[in-house]
Amino acid sequence: MNLILLGPPGAGKGTQAKMLQDRHGIAQISTGDMLRAEVRSGSAIGNEAKAIMERGDLVPDAIITAMLAIRVQKPDCAAGFILDGFPRTVPQAEALDVMLAEMGLALNHVIELKVDDGALVERIAGRFTCSSCGTGYHDRFKPTQVPGICDVCGSHDFTRRADDKAETVAARLEAYHRSTAPLLPYYAAQGKLKHVDGMAEMATVAGQIEAILDGAESRLDSRGTSP
Ligand code: ADP
Ligand code: ADP
Ligand code: ZN
Repeated sequence: MNLILLGPPGAGKGTQAKMLQDRHGIAQISTGDMLRAEVRSGSAIGNEAKAIMERGDLVPDAIITAMLAIRVQKPDCAAGFILDGFPRTVPQAEALDVMLAEMGLALNHVIELKVDDGALVERIAGRFTCSSCGTGYHDRFKPTQVPGICDVCGSHDFTRRADDKAETVAARLEAYHRSTAPLLPYYAAQGKLKHVDGMAEMATVAGQIEAILDGAESRLDSRGTSP
């Protein structure tokens, strides 16, 4: 099963992708996480991407598509994958279609998480992550059970993203509306676009996604290839 989660920054893509990974054993592919790992490692890609990400702009399509082409070949993608943060432009979506066709794979669903712009700023401003295990939290909507200690691994170290600042959020939202929103008609034309109410609570959103998957699982095998 191959899915795309589409939505503005802070919509809950990463949160839902992690839950889908756990429930279905398919790989979460977050191009944002991959880029942040490149920045931390000081690689050539990381050095080029760092300033772009901190401004809230999009990293060039060629870099991202090359990264993704390698990632989808990894063994953990054998049962399928959830793309979280890719594609973000029409050229990326076109490159993905070519890549999947060459691999004999299909996309099952493109699921849009609909969230009002006003709610995104609060979501992003309150977001933090465990530095050890990567579990995502929110100051108000998903605090740790014990203050300062990760629920999953017990770590005391948390990080906040360099680009999760009010100044950068406006640029990221602008990039979403300008470059990524055109993917909605692109996938609607392919008959793949589904919507969920991203303003609902996390568990409710997860339930809406499961309902979409249930509706089509019987018509497609787990690799996402059509019968
Ligand atoms: P994205 O990957 O789309 O940028 P995240 O999954 O990182 O978004 O979510 C952004 C922040 O909002 C995180 O701190 C997360 O805990 C929180 N969050 C995610 N889904 C919801 C929800 N349905 N309601 C309230 N807060 C949420
Ligand atoms: P969010 O979770 O807030 O939607 P991401 O973690 O997906 O953000 O991405 C963080 C930043 O990484 C983006 O603002 C952009 O600069 C860069 N990035 C991630 N994925 C892509 C992509 N597919 N194309 C271009 N830039 C990307
Ligand atoms: Zn942890």
